[in-house]
This record gives sequence, structure tokens and C-alpha cells, in this order.
Amino acid sequence: MTKYHPDTRLLNEYSSGTLALAQSVCVSLHLNYCEQCRRAHQQLQQLGSVLFEELAPQQVDDSLLRTVMGRLDDEPEPLSYSSTAVEDDDCPPLIQRLMKGDYRNLEWKKLSSQVRVSRLRTGDAVNEVALYHINAGASIPKHTHNGTELTLVLEGAFSDEEGRYEAGDFLMRDASQQHTPTATQERDCICIGVLDAPIKFTDWKYRMVNPFLKLQAS
Ligand SMILES: [Zn+2]
Repeated sequence: MTKYHPDTRLLNEYSSGTLALAQSVCVSLHLNYCEQCRRAHQQLQQLGSVLFEELAPQQVDDSLLRTVMGRLDDEPEPLSYSSTAVEDDDCPPLIQRLMKGDYRNLEWKKLSSQVRVSRLRTGDAVNEVALYHINAGASIPKHTHNGTELTLVLEGAFSDEEGRYEAGDFLMRDASQQHTPTATQERDCICIGVLDAPIKFTDWKYRMVNPFLKLQAS
């Protein structure tokens, strides 16, 4: 049962197709776990199609039509979520597709002795998507963000200054919030994070970290 959800603005943008691809990955994954947001998403889509039908038709010339049809042919496969909820330990199909395998086949880089990061390619040129593997009881070094950080828990659980998050829980943190995600003692935690700007570690030791994921030494 998820306790933390995307806010109305994110869900709205996701449903109307205006949310950036990387951030849509995070919202789409949350929908795998959350019936409440799945329902809200379906309602928003229905509302969108009703509004669309009410728009007055516009005359378009043939060349515009050909361009649009051509673009549709080039569109990548849309993001999808399974229509049934996933069990807590199942890896959602969308993540399996992005990983092209499972967690073990990825290239992991050490962020500290207890935290590993693996970047996923989504085709989004602006936002970065990565998986974080935090050993049981370990923490991601305290950091702040220039922009927005979205996080979704895939396995295990972690807590920070504001709560405890389990599989399917969705968090959004902005530039004003500094936090230290710590995996629970029982098991390792795997989560997916989406960044739209570099994160900044506040502890000097980690400022020397190799600039992977645009981790910024400032
Ligand atoms: Zn939800």
C-alpha cells in the first residue's frame, strides 16, 4: 500500500502527455503500485478526450497533415504500466525494459562503500534517470538539489528526515530540501531517481566524487 503519491500537477501533466519523459517514467512506475493514482490518471485522460472532442475543428493543409502523420510513425512505443498492481518485490515491466535485463546485469558505479548508482537511458536529454542501490542500514550522503529530484522505491525501504518509504512510494524534493536517505536495517534498498539538475553533496568528503550523474563538486 503506497503512502506517498505524485502531486496533482505531476499527474495532470503525465495524463496530458506534457511531462518530460524521464519524470514520466517515475510517475508511470508509481501507477504500477497505486490503484488510487491509476484511477485518477484514467479520469484525467477521459476528461482530456472530452475536452479535445469539444474543440472546434480547424482546417489543415495536406503538408501539415503529412508532417504530423510522419511524426506519429516515428514515435517511440508509449510508456505503459501494467493494468494490475505489482507485488512489492516484482520488478515493474517498464524498469525491466529500461534495464534490458535485471539489476545484476547493470553497470554499477560506487558512490561510497555502501551505495551504488547505475544510470539508465530513457532518451530524455535533459533529465537523468538512475537506479540507486543502498546497502541495508546505509545512507546516501546528505545532499541538496539545484532542481527537482523524483524518487520511487522499487525494493526494500528507506527513510529520511520526513518519513519512511516503501516499494511504490513516490517522493519529490526541491532545491530547498536537504536530506539523507537511509535504507532500513532489514534489507538493501533499490530506488530510481530522476534529476533535472545536478545534486550537491553537503559533506566535503563526497564533493570529490567522480562527476558521474553530473554530481557537482562545488
Ligand atoms: Zn498514488
